[in-house]
Amino acid sequence: KAKAGGKHQFRIFDETMRFDLLHKRKLEDALQGALSQNQFTLHFQKQVHVPSGEVKGYEALLRWQQPDGLYIPPAEWIQLAEETGLIVPIGYWVLQTACQTAKKWQDALQTRFTISVNISALQLMQYDFADQVLAVLAETGLDPRHLVLELTETLLIQSIETSTNHLNFLRDKGVRIALDDFGKGFSSLSYIKQLPADIIKIDKSFIDHIDDSSVDRVIMESIISLVQRIDKEVVAEGVEKQEQLRILQAIGCDFVQGYYFSKPLPEHQAFHALVEV
Ligand code: C2E
Ligand code: MG
Ligand code: MG
Ligand code: MG
Repeated sequence: KAKAGGKHQFRIFDETMRFDLLHKRKLEDALQGALSQNQFTLHFQKQVHVPSGEVKGYEALLRWQQPDGLYIPPAEWIQLAEETGLIVPIGYWVLQTACQTAKKWQDALQTRFTISVNISALQLMQYDFADQVLAVLAETGLDPRHLVLELTETLLIQSIETSTNHLNFLRDKGVRIALDDFGKGFSSLSYIKQLPADIIKIDKSFIDHIDDSSVDRVIMESIISLVQRIDKEVVAEGVEKQEQLRILQAIGCDFVQGYYFSKPLPEHQAFHALVEV
């Protein structure tokens, strides 16, 4: 009987694997076509300077709308795009489009703000990554001091040395580097030590409960003080409530981002939000 159960379980496992593979292949095919068919767009989310309440900049976030209207959130396909290498051309498109858009807004409004672009570790491993970034800046006319590259630690580990070289080169030109999702992974403290960064973005999971857990508040205070003592700026991600903002303000957090201020918005809406401020 135990044997039969085991066999049955094996079959279920097998079917699940087959479904996953099929699903993956389909998604991969769809991703291949998405770039050439212009199915990607960017949304933009405000980053707010806490002491002044001013908009410091925007983070560009990738959106994929399939022709049938189906919207697939990045969490469901960025990893596959990384596994297949497709994130490299997609990421280049994001960088180009984000810089172009930021420059257009700056010229139209005669104001200055930063644009933050998420960069996959796979892009950073390209031998000519730094040259690509400089080329995009030259092409679009965006001042390097207005570009922030956001890095997540997921894939970084294999390429610390190459990454560090690219990052130092770009920092010399004025581009700033942010470590994204800080605290979420296992090696955050190691990355903060090894990678040249100007900004630390603290993961939303550390902000979620600062308004109802004193332990979470202490952890947040300690991270902020750590980051500031090594002369980096802090951004708190995923601020949703006024009470969370109030606490972050009291603790001395530099910048915040989250639904409390605004969700990521399509280009024209983000532009109009800028006009209003
Ligand atoms: P991320 O870079 O940490 O971006 C922040 C994510 O949190 C975004 O999700 C944003 O919409 C969401 N968010 C912001 N404020 C709040 C809030 O108050 N509450 C909640 N619940 N969520 C909030 P999104 O746009 O779905 O992106 C997810 C992740 O996908 C990003 O995390 C980033 O790692 C990746 N990603 C997005 N665009 C790109 C891209 O162009 N290139 C690469 N390589 N990765 C990207
Ligand atoms: Mg980010
Ligand atoms: Mg993040
Ligand atoms: Mg992330």
